[in-house]
Amino acid sequence: MGIFSKFKKGFQKGAEALQGSFSKVLGVKKLDANDMASIEEALYSADFGVETTEEIIQNIHEAFKKDKEFKGQDALHVAREVLRRTLSGAEKSFILPPEDNLQVLCMIGVNGSGKTTTCAKLGHLLKERGDKVLLGACDTFRAAATEQLKAWADRLGLECVFGHHGADSAAVAFDTFSAASARRCNLAIIDTAGRLHVKDNLMDELFKMKRVLSKRDEGAPHHSWLVIDGSTGTNGLEQAKVFNQKFGLTGLVVTKLDGSSKGGVLVSIYRELKLPIYFLGLGESADDLQPFSIEYYLDSILPLAQTLESQ
Ligand code: GDP
Repeated sequence: MGIFSKFKKGFQKGAEALQGSFSKVLGVKKLDANDMASIEEALYSADFGVETTEEIIQNIHEAFKKDKEFKGQDALHVAREVLRRTLSGAEKSFILPPEDNLQVLCMIGVNGSGKTTTCAKLGHLLKERGDKVLLGACDTFRAAATEQLKAWADRLGLECVFGHHGADSAAVAFDTFSAASARRCNLAIIDTAGRLHVKDNLMDELFKMKRVLSKRDEGAPHHSWLVIDGSTGTNGLEQAKVFNQKFGLTGLVVTKLDGSSKGGVLVSIYRELKLPIYFLGLGESADDLQPFSIEYYLDSILPLAQTLESQ
């Protein structure tokens, strides 16, 4: 399946209500208050956030005032334009320096957000691309996490460093760095234990890991990505702000966009924090991690009129 089909299929369920509110007004000659209210409600419930929703509504009002011919389908163009502008700069390719320049990436987030799965998917994607990657199973807290990552690694032919259940996660991170360095890898992907962003003691564990890694290489971890479940809703922004403030995030991965998630949370997070959105999780298989593309995103979440009409 091509990338665009994956995006489209991924967003099919979640973006239904949003697309429905626009497809209802496509042929309408003039938008009335009810149409506007229904669009506004759909934008809010798609989790785009208050500012972006208000900006879209305001822009539709302004365009309507300026253009007496403003029709239902023009509202769709306005919404896409605001989203495109808001997301401008969010796409960033993940390019690694060549071998012998080991970089470390920490996958951070709350429990169940998809960190372990994303570590495996990313390892697979990079390996296919020719990078030399080592996984570090540093979630020693959740009993099944190490087994889960090892199972993925075995299936995908990836190498993985792990410790016993309950081991010091910073020590496993240290071992991962050493092994990756000895094997001349160009990326070590560290799976960290899920933690609530409001739990200070668990956050301290992350600081310890960061300290230990930076003793080996003062630039490490070079990348700290927040993995966020796309169905988290507006709480996702709160999580991202706290993790960013405490840990200094460098990027974002949004997962489970193939489920019932509405897909808008990444707009509100990017608007506030301007963190590059490197990848989206669009399924549970190894190749369901897709580089973020603004145009694919727009065409999937809010496709143009002819696509909406045919639905
Ligand atoms: P962790 O606790 O953050 O490490 O989360 P896991 O990686 O264990 O993922 C939690 C659950 O979400 C697992 O059942 C994964 O298969 C599932 N999952 C992760 N990413 C995705 C995704 O993009 N789409 C879907 N449908 N499920 C996902």
